[in-house]
Amino acid sequence: MAGDLHAQLHAVVQDLAVHVRLLREFGVRAVARAQPATEPEPAPQAEPPRATGARDQAHLFAPPAPSLPGAPVAPASAWRPNPLEPDQARLELEGLRRHIGDCTRCALSRNRRNVVFGEGDPVARLALVGEGPGGEEDRTGRPFVGPAGQLLEKILAAMGLTREQVYICNVVKCRPPNNRTPEDGEMRTCGQFLEKQLQIVHPRHILCLGGTAARYLLGTEQPMGKLRGRFFDHPATGARIMPTYHPAYLLRNEDAKRPVWEDVKRVMSEMEQPVEEAP
Ligand code: URA
Repeated sequence: MAGDLHAQLHAVVQDLAVHVRLLREFGVRAVARAQPATEPEPAPQAEPPRATGARDQAHLFAPPAPSLPGAPVAPASAWRPNPLEPDQARLELEGLRRHIGDCTRCALSRNRRNVVFGEGDPVARLALVGEGPGGEEDRTGRPFVGPAGQLLEKILAAMGLTREQVYICNVVKCRPPNNRTPEDGEMRTCGQFLEKQLQIVHPRHILCLGGTAARYLLGTEQPMGKLRGRFFDHPATGARIMPTYHPAYLLRNEDAKRPVWEDVKRVMSEMEQPVEEAP
């Protein structure tokens, strides 16, 4: 009994320590006092995004259909452990990369230097999906290595993870000119490769970074403020998708760091990811 209590207290203290460390790393130096005690918002389970009218682009992104308004939503239990061994998955990813080749399937190929395929554990439990490469990614051929990537690595560190332990990729593999938002046709063309990557890696959870990735994966234009904080199912694999703010947005909006941490904690809790001892 006393042992149980001690273990529970220990877990709470650990969680708090990690929370404080992450807030510090995110640059949060002060927290508001005397907040009225309110229940956390319940996180509805796998509720598909509601149609917002003609601007919902559900039809653009099939196949395979994401969690679209009105589409059948795969039950959470649809996820099964990856049938591929790590070596097999690695080979399949390499084959997919070869298949993409020196891609000219869309206009983004005209200005890019490197196709940024994605990287990480070929059978990762967690995949991170961003929008598309920026300048540094285009130069190096690696996802999330610029300023947003550095912040992403801090978020991962706070989760007790390294980039090698997750799989990191983007909806489009080529840098849009001047970092503009990828167009629907570009996302549709390149999205087939993202879907294939997700089928091979077969993550249990997907952290969907930013509105553009959410637009593709969830088939909705709802703002991130409405989407974040709850799980959606990825129809092709049954993975649990958590939409959250893009790290580049966090670099400009300090206030978004706290909700991201809340989202990340929900993922960690479902992953049963043990939190690290704070130094
Ligand atoms: N932003 C993204 O969405 N992806 C990257 O790889 C880098 C920045």
